[in-house]
Formats: sequence, C-alpha cells, structure tokens
Amino acid sequence: NRRIVLAARPQGLPTLQDFDMVTAPVTPPGPGEVLLRTLYLSLDPYMRNLMDPVGPGYAPPVAIGATMVGGTVSRVVASRHPGFAEGDLVLANAGWQDHALSDGSDLVPLGDLAQPSLALGGLGMPGFTAHVGLLDIGAPLPGETVVVAAATGAVGSVVGQVAKIRGARVVGIAGGSGKCRVAVEELGFDACVDHRDAHFAERLAAACPQGIDVYFENVGGAVLDAVLPHLNVGARVPVCGFIAHYNDTAPQGPDRRPELLAAVLQKRIRMQGFIILDHYGPRFDAFRREMGEWVAAGRVKLREDRVEGLEQAPSAFIGLLQGRNAGKLVVRVHAD
Ligand code: NDP
Repeated sequence: NRRIVLAARPQGLPTLQDFDMVTAPVTPPGPGEVLLRTLYLSLDPYMRNLMDPVGPGYAPPVAIGATMVGGTVSRVVASRHPGFAEGDLVLANAGWQDHALSDGSDLVPLGDLAQPSLALGGLGMPGFTAHVGLLDIGAPLPGETVVVAAATGAVGSVVGQVAKIRGARVVGIAGGSGKCRVAVEELGFDACVDHRDAHFAERLAAACPQGIDVYFENVGGAVLDAVLPHLNVGARVPVCGFIAHYNDTAPQGPDRRPELLAAVLQKRIRMQGFIILDHYGPRFDAFRREMGEWVAAGRVKLREDRVEGLEQAPSAFIGLLQGRNAGKLVVRVHAD
C-alpha cells in the first residue's frame, strides 16, 4: 500500500518536500471491516488548513507522518462487514493512499453511478456547498446580480449555474482569460472578469452596473477589496472560503477592517459563514435529487480536472492553491 503522508508543516505555499510517500503491505480487514481500493481521490482547498499546526476547528490537523486525509470514491475489495459486499462502489474517506480499512460508518453506497468521480465534485461535497451557500444564505432573487470568484472551480462553477437557474445575472471572477471564456461560453455566466488583469477593479465595476446583491465569497484578498465598494444595500455574502489567504504566514497589506465594517454596517450587509459538514442529512438527499436532474438535463455542466496517479497528488494539490486546476480536481488512483 502506498500512502502519502505529511512530512513537514508548510511555510506558506506547500512544496513537494512537505509530502512523503511510504509503502507497506496491505492489511486484510478484521471482523466488521472492509478493505477499500481507491479509485478517485478528491483534492480540496481545506486540506491546506489541515496541514497547519492548529486546525480550522471543524476538523483536527493532520499529524506529521500521518496519511493526508481526503474524500475518495473507493471499491470494496474484501468485506467482513454485513452491510458491504466485495465489488461495492462507495464514497469514503480513504485519504491519499491506494488502500484503506473502514468499519463502514463513514461509507455511502454509490450504486452504479455512470461517472463515479462526480460524487466528489458537483454531485458531492463541493456541489452541496454551492447549493447550501447560494440558496440558503445568498438567496438570490430573479434579476439580482450574483458575483462568484474561483468561478470555474468545483464550488464556484456550480454557484454560478444555479444562480442562473434562479434567474439571477451572474458575474464570475477567475484567474486568466481562458478560465473567463469557459465561465461565459461553457457555463453560461453573463460575464467574467480576470482577477489577474491590471484593470481588474474597473472591469468588475463595468460588469456590475446595478451593483452586487450576492457575493459568494471563496477567495478574500484583492478580490474582496474590489467587490466591497459595489455591494448593494441589503447584500448577502455567504462566506464559504478565503483561499487567497490559506498560505499567509503574516498579515498582508494595509488593514482593511475599517472599510469592511463600514460596508457591512452602512449597507446593512448580511455576511454569514457556513461549514458544509453541518448540513448533511435530509438536505443532502434533496440536493442530490435536484442536482442530478439539472446535470442530466444539461442545465448544470460539471467540469473535472483529472490527474493520473497517486504520486501526482502533491504537485496537483500545490497547483490548486495557485489556480492551475481547471474544474474539480480529482486524482485517478486506480482504473478499477
Ligand atoms: P477550486 O476548484 O475553485 O480551486 C481553487 C481555486 O481558487 C483556484 O483554481 C483559483 O481559481 C482560486 N484561487 C487560488 N488562489 C487565489 C487567489 N490568491 N486569489 C483568487 N483566487 C484564487 O476549489 P473549490 O471549489 O474546491 O473551493 C473553493 C472555495 O470554497 C475555497 O475557498 C474552499 O476552501 C471553499 N470551500 C468551503 C467549504 C465550506 O464548507 N465552507 C466546502 C468546500 C469548499 P482562479 O484561477 O480562477 O483564481
């Protein structure tokens, strides 16, 4: 069994030296356990937070020498659990490794999904995050302007498409003209602005002539600075993530707390954070049904950036933190 462990705590952007691959024989399942083979491993921004010595609160940090955690689509290859049979396809938390043991408590049967990796993307955690954050907190009305950054990523691409279904005008923010073209031409956004462009702030203003009613916060940093002056009275800001700061080792730039607080107060803005782990249960089943229908009908397109081989996980993950991914990032670990 190959597993990728945390070798050192990153200082800023992780490097390949922060990871190590270790190999050991596969352990057979004990009573009540299943042995899983990883087919797909999900790579997600929260993993960066779990590499720090103090975790984000909703999950413990990964210990030095421990296997990097992560959601997986896995195949049951041996079972001593009454609820799972050899050959079953499951959603699991096997982490960055070829095989894992589970007592079954964290496994969700996937049946025979046509494209199982989507259970890690638009039909799974990131899609659910988009759904809950946009609809329950952002609550866009028809004709309102919704802005979302990391617009072609796992969460942002779904936020924008669901906002379009709800009749909103959708403006994406993405890194590079290629991603912006994808947002408009493939995902159907009304406009998309490149945050790396020297005229980003002016272009964002021009793309939002009626101001911004919902800003789905994925990144923070310079993107938040540019958005802030355009938020309308009564705007809603679901705070989903702030990836622009995940590698910070010290406070960046001037103190912008006064502008932020002034905008929240004077514009009566409702900013609300949420952690998707709190929302599973019946709400997830309703999401899965609705999103499954939208995807089947072609109303929501799910883009996937697939990397081949477990050994590629560290470099692909570092790329995610730099915007090198194009769509939901997954690693194909085993063909089946
Ligand atoms: P993505 O697939 O969107 O990949 C990350 C993207 O972030 C990159 O491709 C890049 O896009 C963008 N990015 C990285 N650095 C910067 C930067 N400095 N400034 C602007 N953009 C940057 O990831 P996900 O869709 O999986 O996650 C999106 C956000 O949602 C993250 O903040 C994540 O932590 C959060 N999240 C929160 C959850 C919750 O429960 N609250 C659950 C799941 C995700 P580009 O090149 O376009 O800039």
